[in-house]
Amino acid sequence: MAKSPYKKILIIAVLALLIPALSYTTFQLLQYNKNEKLIRDIYDRQLDAILFSVNQHCWDQFYLWTESIKKIAQSSFSQGQKLDQFIQQQRFIAGGFLRYREDRYVISWQPEEKPSTAIDRLEVIFAESGYELAKILERAEKGYVQPLTIQWAKNQTLLFFPVLLSPAQHFWAGILIHQDIFIHDIVALKLDQIVDDNFNLAVGRKDGEILFLTDENFEFESFEKGETLWILPDLELLIQLSGTTLDQVARSMTRKNLAFLVTMNIFLLAGIFLLMKSLMSEINLAKLKSQFVDNVSHELRTPLALIRMHADLLVLGGVPSEDKKLHYYKLISGESERLTQLVNNVLDFSKIESKRKEYQFTDEDVAEIVNHILDRYSLHLKEKGFELERRVPASCRPVRVDRDAVNQAVINLLENAVKFSDKDKKIIVSVQDTETDVRIAVQDFGLGIPEALRKRIFEKFYRVDDPFVHDTGGSGLGLSLVRYIMEAHHGSVSVQSKPGKGSTFTLRFPANQMKG
Ligand code: ADP
Repeated sequence: MAKSPYKKILIIAVLALLIPALSYTTFQLLQYNKNEKLIRDIYDRQLDAILFSVNQHCWDQFYLWTESIKKIAQSSFSQGQKLDQFIQQQRFIAGGFLRYREDRYVISWQPEEKPSTAIDRLEVIFAESGYELAKILERAEKGYVQPLTIQWAKNQTLLFFPVLLSPAQHFWAGILIHQDIFIHDIVALKLDQIVDDNFNLAVGRKDGEILFLTDENFEFESFEKGETLWILPDLELLIQLSGTTLDQVARSMTRKNLAFLVTMNIFLLAGIFLLMKSLMSEINLAKLKSQFVDNVSHELRTPLALIRMHADLLVLGGVPSEDKKLHYYKLISGESERLTQLVNNVLDFSKIESKRKEYQFTDEDVAEIVNHILDRYSLHLKEKGFELERRVPASCRPVRVDRDAVNQAVINLLENAVKFSDKDKKIIVSVQDTETDVRIAVQDFGLGIPEALRKRIFEKFYRVDDPFVHDTGGSGLGLSLVRYIMEAHHGSVSVQSKPGKGSTFTLRFPANQMKG
């Protein structure tokens, strides 16, 4: 059995398009969890970067303070006054000191306790934190000035740090920070700068108390991420995505990707389906075309052989009676008319297909055209054993038509009625002049057409796959020509049929094609 061409095309389409797309989708489905994690990681890092930038900003502030303290230390007079000034400049600095030696302090202290009490406490810290201070000094000598942070009071943090005047000379200094005010004046400003609609930022104590929120109305259950505020380590910077959680974002992004892939696959399938459909109709057409060539060759050969045979008999003078001669002449005339009709059909069809067909529209009496055809055809029909019933008025309203084209359409219908009639050889031709249109109907009592094929018979080259039709000659062009002709007249052709009982083909010329 020959391999079906559709199968081959289907296999190619599946191999070339569908398998790669489906494998990619499967791969993505398997990656689902991985992707989700990846997206979560990316978001996580973004949140980290935001928190980092806030911390960095606080750090920069701290550097500025160490620089100011250094300048004060380097000035040779009124250090105390300068320290006072520096401390008063910033609302969030509650006090500061320079410690040259255990008994040599320059101090500016605003808290309630007396500076001397503060110094006593500082000395205790100094004595107890020798190890940490040594480390901090070592780091400062390498260029990283970092404070030792001490919780001084509930709301106050002391930053203890070395000031290097030269590689060999250093002293210690400290700044007492008012946490609330620092958060309000420095951190909050920065947070407000970087916050956007996608997330909320907050500063809170490690015990959960929130000191500042970028969106006061934001109701949170827990924060997505927290990061110690480097400069005030008992406080935390917190971040939360608004309206959604990191998990939700990751899930929704992965879902969107998958939805996109699924849609892509659906389109691909639809594309393959359409491709297959159009390929199939092309292949069908190619098949029909080759059948058409066979059919037409056969159609040409039969009348030509008949004409030749009878003409030869006449030429050789072997026909005894005048009656017989007349019969042969008629036969030759009839067959050549069939040939002409076939050639006309093919030529017209090719003209119509290449849009070269031009119609000559004139106002015509359709009843008169049909009567004229039937006059010519009645003998031929009678000879073929057909009973012709004419329900055609002598005349009807004029319609704007191409006379030759209407002739051709009606003759094609008549020829089909003849060809596809079996035992019941009767044809009814009628013309009706109705309010909306003028109708020509050709009814036979022959083979009929199965319902499923009633549309297809108007396609070019199409012939019903039936032994009776196969044995009856034809090109498969007749009805498609009729359809083209009726389209050119803005009319229509329709068929009513009962298999085994016969068919009625109706041509309708619409009212707007009529004159007057
Ligand atoms: P052809 O007659 O040359 O085969 P057509 O285009 O005129 O081509 O008709 C297409 C097909 O429609 C025919 O092959 C036949 O199968 C079917 N058909 C047309 N007219 C009739 C009819 N009057 N009765 C039954 N079948 C018909």
